[in-house]
Amino acid sequence: MKCRKCHSKAIINMPEHRLALCQTCYSPWFLEHTERAIKKFSMFMHHDRILVAVSGGKDSLALWHALVTLGYDADGFYIDLGIDEDISYSNKSKQACLKFSERVNRPLHIVTVAEEVGASVPEIKNLTRRVACSGCGLVKRYFMNRTSLEAGYDVIATGHNLDDEVAVLFGNTLRWDQEYLARQYPVLDEREGLKKKVKPFIYFTEKQTTVYSLVNKIAYVRDECPFAVGATSLYYKDIINRLEHDMPGSKRQFLDGFFKARDKFVSSEPVELTPCSQCGQPTTGDLCAYCRLVEHVHRRQPQRQSDESCSSL
Ligand code: AMP
Ligand code: ZN
Repeated sequence: MKCRKCHSKAIINMPEHRLALCQTCYSPWFLEHTERAIKKFSMFMHHDRILVAVSGGKDSLALWHALVTLGYDADGFYIDLGIDEDISYSNKSKQACLKFSERVNRPLHIVTVAEEVGASVPEIKNLTRRVACSGCGLVKRYFMNRTSLEAGYDVIATGHNLDDEVAVLFGNTLRWDQEYLARQYPVLDEREGLKKKVKPFIYFTEKQTTVYSLVNKIAYVRDECPFAVGATSLYYKDIINRLEHDMPGSKRQFLDGFFKARDKFVSSEPVELTPCSQCGQPTTGDLCAYCRLVEHVHRRQPQRQSDESCSSL
């Protein structure tokens, strides 16, 4: 297989673009398409301060790399979830983000969930009997917004890719979940204390972000979050990849078709947001979901500590 641009040996075949590219031609193509998505959805401009939420995985570190390479003012933000038992997942991820921050010579903000909430994500899971991903999603959304507001960023960028978005859309469509469908878009504009959120890699597949990371020698963490094992989204991704294999371009078609029809799901009267009585972050009720979670953890925590000391007797 030859590179379409220079005819040397191709390293990636992208049937959905009818394009194969070599090691040298790939990064310029990838950066040009990143810029295209940023412009298409008016995500941000060169004078904006961008907070890139980095997990230590390939997508978000590749995003930080691409934005800095394109000359954007982009700093990193890592949320230490405390998922460390046995595999040291969060610790490894934090080290990868810190190293990368040195490489791109940009600051990395870090928030540690156990310090803020009083319990790590696995502990929150045990204390609340919520599935781990629900507590984790809640604290991630909360800290991304709070840190971007406190540190004066204009926009939060996440590394969600085409495979992520299509899997979520597939799930939302299976249930025809109007509320989630209305919120699924690569740009969520700033409103009432909520910072603007964008997904510049919306049109890149996992294969494309992986190849960008490898070509640019980005040292990312390959481990999946242990709580994601067996997740429904992975099952959807598998089905969708089979479809894409037989019908290249299906992922993009599904997502773009939805974007055209999305207006039909957006309510003309969005729910009103007011500041949380405890922390001031926007919420639909009196106390926000995060503060309710912290209260719950604090209520359960003393009981848990005395349980532990009893069992160690
Ligand atoms: P995930 O929900 O794990 O698929 O991650 C989606 C995106 O959320 C990533 O591409 C990152 O931009 C962001 N993200 C995930 N985990 C973290 C984390 N621990 N700290 C900061 N950002 C994260
Ligand atoms: Zn609150």
